[in-house]
Amino acid sequence: MLISLIVPCYNEEEALPLFYAEAARVAGEMAKSHGADFEFIFVDDGSTDGTLAAAKALRARDDRVRYLSFSRNFGKEAAIFAGLQAAKGDYAALLDADLQDPPALLPQMLDALLSGEYDCAATRRTTRKGEPPVRSFFARMFYRLIHRMSDTEIVDGARDFRLMSRRVVDAVLSLGEYNRFSKGIFGWVGFRTKWFSYENIERAAGKTKWSFWKLFRYSIEGIVGFSTAPLAVAALLGLLFCVLALVMIVFIILRTLIFGDPTSGWPSLVCIILLCSGVQLFCVGVLGEYLAKTYLEVKRRPLYLLRESSEDEAEKP
Ligand code: UDP
Ligand code: MG
Repeated sequence: MLISLIVPCYNEEEALPLFYAEAARVAGEMAKSHGADFEFIFVDDGSTDGTLAAAKALRARDDRVRYLSFSRNFGKEAAIFAGLQAAKGDYAALLDADLQDPPALLPQMLDALLSGEYDCAATRRTTRKGEPPVRSFFARMFYRLIHRMSDTEIVDGARDFRLMSRRVVDAVLSLGEYNRFSKGIFGWVGFRTKWFSYENIERAAGKTKWSFWKLFRYSIEGIVGFSTAPLAVAALLGLLFCVLALVMIVFIILRTLIFGDPTSGWPSLVCIILLCSGVQLFCVGVLGEYLAKTYLEVKRRPLYLLRESSEDEAEKP
């Protein structure tokens, strides 16, 4: 039984050795308790620090370590995809490099899969301790919103940390979309998932790679990728405004016929024009967001480009 641990790394030179030490400890325990073999796949997502060198150093010490290095920063989603593609294991786990996803949970997760009852073991955090309150607030809002808009189940507080059987890995890989939103993809593929909860753990070293703006863009990705509700809202708003306009027309015609004075109401006219054009632009914007995603999809660009990987060595004579 081979388990692939996939670790997306972006500027994690400080955290990588810490992660490896902990993961190797757990791997050793699991070799004894479950007879499991491991491979560690570090996906260097175009880091500008010594992350790649750190991964190479680990490989020199331990040949279970493999690495992939991107030609530039393609984002965590691309790194996850690349890692899953490279994984050879019967099971694959996704973990962050900063030890916010405790490898110590892996034995329990594997037990759940081995019981045959589950195909996937996923984790969620019950608290957001140590996170800026503003970020937590917007995260909550996002989950509430997407819960209403999307049929795909997207769990609040879900981490990307999960252990999957080969079947689930292949299912996730079969979704070749360019705009990837893992939380949605895992919900979409389904399978029986066992959830594990734990309290938020703060980063072991280094700092977070997600700015507020990056997270905001990511949340739009999630909404556009897994719901077409905003498009329906645009249509609904249009209909609502048509009805409103009709009522107004009848009202104004009647008022003019009864009281005369057709030229009053200039300020209200300006307000109406402003409101209507605002709503129109907003709807065009929503439409544009979907069009942009479609445009990016049809270009069929690769999700990532490799600059080098541990697999290169095998090809050398
Ligand atoms: N990450 C990545 N590419 C990116 C941003 C992040 O591969 O463009 C990795 C990062 O190295 C880490 C994981 O994704 O292993 C989660 O990132 P981080 O800990 O910064 O996010 P947070 O836990 O603060 O949400
Ligand atoms: Mg983190």
